[in-house]
Amino acid sequence: MIQNVSVIGAGTMGNGIAHVFAQHGFKVQLIDVSQAQLDKAIATIGKNLARQVQKGSITETIQANALASISTNTSIAEGVAGADLVVEAATENTALKLEIFKQADAAAPAAAILASNTSSISITKIAAATKRPEKVIGMHFMNPVPVMQLVEIINGYATSADVTDSIQALSVRLGKTPCVVNDYPGFIANRILMPMINEAIYSLYEGVAGVLEIDTVMKLGMAHPMGPLQLADFIGLDVCLSILLVLHNGFGNPKYAPCPLLVNMVAAGKLGIKTGEGFYVYTAGSKDLVVSPRFRK
Ligand code: NAD
Repeated sequence: MIQNVSVIGAGTMGNGIAHVFAQHGFKVQLIDVSQAQLDKAIATIGKNLARQVQKGSITETIQANALASISTNTSIAEGVAGADLVVEAATENTALKLEIFKQADAAAPAAAILASNTSSISITKIAAATKRPEKVIGMHFMNPVPVMQLVEIINGYATSADVTDSIQALSVRLGKTPCVVNDYPGFIANRILMPMINEAIYSLYEGVAGVLEIDTVMKLGMAHPMGPLQLADFIGLDVCLSILLVLHNGFGNPKYAPCPLLVNMVAAGKLGIKTGEGFYVYTAGSKDLVVSPRFRK
């Protein structure tokens, strides 16, 4: 029975994953190379739990127990030593993830399952960096983790059926809905989402329509909660580009080639919300959707 969970990486996804496990009664070790990032993650979790209490979705007791069940660590070896499950949510970089999995494999108990929250890196490749490929699996949460219902579970080439069953059951214990898919580039979520975002950027690049028109067509016409360009800003244009490159390289099909406008925007450092400008401009404290001057008519 999984009870002790170590989360490696305390950024956007790591803090959300730690939050959800702690809220559901698990003991959590949150690990990051940066103490400042760990402090920020604990503050974010505290704020988000308080918001859930205000909304009446959790009690004050759950809030207090959740906060008390999270410990932090800057050492992977120490942080995974008692883990039943490790969920890696560190920066999306293949060499970095292979190194983290090597270290986690060496230090975690032999029975522990090692999961990755990667958006696009091959689970089979990550598993091959360990001596327990049958216990390595993808556990792809969506952002923001406490809110989003889906967990995309990715079976690597060697993942055992027992491990898949156990991660499926665990996702249900977290109040999520698991979907099991196989390990091919982009899995399902990004294989379908990223070509749509890329096509929206191509439509803008070719002058078919403006930013607001493209997003409004998809919001009102397809009942999407946000348009593809706004979503790209939310995800990060650098992240979108790197996933498209994984699809392009993985399938060798030109239909996945990233739009030159996306490539240019990333080169110019216009990465979306995190840099204050992408297809829209963002001002702290304002929720207004303002098209970037670059794309105003
Ligand atoms: P992020 O940049 O917000 O956080 C990454 C964290 O990893 C940072 O705090 C960094 O200090 C830490 N880190 C780097 N090297 C480390 C190491 N060796 N040991 C421990 N920690 C280390 O990134 P994120 O957006 O949270 O993404 C994390 C993972 O989740 C990526 O694989 C990404 O593809 C995936 N993902 C992201 C989203 C999203 O919308 N942001 C959605 C689904 C999946």
